[in-house]
Amino acid sequence: MKKETNVCLFEKDSRFGGRDYDVRFSRAPNIAISLGAWRVDKKHKKVMDLARRVKIPMLEMGHVKAVLFEARGFYASNLQSLKEQAFATLLSGPFANMTSSELYKYAWLNVTREKALEVPSYRDFLCQQFGNNFTVSTKKLIIAVPSFAFKEITGDVAAEIESNPLFEAILPHPAFKAAAIYSYPWWENVTSSHYNLTMKPFEIFRSGATCLVGTMPYSGRGPQGEAVIQLSYAWRACAIKWGEISKLSKAVFETELKKAVQEVFPGVVIPEPLEIVFKYWEEVAWYVNYP
Ligand SMILES: Cc1cc2nc3c(=O)[nH]c(=O)nc-3n(C[C@H](O)[C@H](O)[C@H](O)COP(=O)(O)OP(=O)(O)OC[C@H]3O[C@@H](n4cnc5c(N)ncnc54)[C@H](O)[C@@H]3O)c2cc1C
Repeated sequence: MKKETNVCLFEKDSRFGGRDYDVRFSRAPNIAISLGAWRVDKKHKKVMDLARRVKIPMLEMGHVKAVLFEARGFYASNLQSLKEQAFATLLSGPFANMTSSELYKYAWLNVTREKALEVPSYRDFLCQQFGNNFTVSTKKLIIAVPSFAFKEITGDVAAEIESNPLFEAILPHPAFKAAAIYSYPWWENVTSSHYNLTMKPFEIFRSGATCLVGTMPYSGRGPQGEAVIQLSYAWRACAIKWGEISKLSKAVFETELKKAVQEVFPGVVIPEPLEIVFKYWEEVAWYVNYP
């Protein structure tokens, strides 16, 4: 990549970073909380190379593992067991022998609004549209805004890009994240009426009933032993639910969030959070591509 020496950057936000967005509680300044993108996959070679090149320190996160699942008030340590308990109708008929990822794919193709989708993956779509080999050539074009923002741009070139099937294939997904700091890590010893659980950092509790979706403790402690947990990492409909609630008053939002957390940790004595932060990525968190 050639080093650019004459660059003009236009940024609409009051901060840099876009969807990379970390915050810290003043009570635990050593714990970086990701309210946006949170990890770089080792397979993302270009991003890894770039991070090394500009000397961004990287930490090995280790294995992120889902340790508990909840749906419709049932709890299970794996998705098959959750299917058996919470979705009994899926145990017969065409769904009986489907794995959770096959069920997900089936729902994606048949039940969601993406019903029209006939090609299962973006790569298959590209091959179908262009064959296995195709070339893109340009002198220089850098578009570093999300597609919804690009739609604001007018003119022939923008119109041509927007009418391209590849551009039309980009679908934005909303997401919502909320994290809280507590005076002690109450999740480390959970004895509820439904399960016993010791949640360690980066172990995820996936719950559906209240749309929190991804609850996950952070590692590290504040100076007085304060501990941080991601209460929610929700996508699509669940993101919209929490995003819309977050637009109401702070008191209403926090009451609803605490109620939701209590509901998925039944019988657990949960202390008052010292502080809550959140971010609703309303227009786009990330994209899926399909025809
Ligand atoms: C909750 C969440 C979790 C994610 N998790 C991961 C993950 O774990 N791993 C991963 O690889 N990716 C993840 N992503 C996706 C990742 O954040 C994005 O792919 C990446 O940040 C995209 O970078 P970008 O520079 O293309 O766009 P952005 O980061 O969106 O940057 C675009 C910039 O353009 C600015 N802008 C927009 N419109 C205009 C305008 N009209 N004029 C001027 N400036 C404008 C914006 O303010 C922004 O600063 C996640 C995203 C979110 C929201």
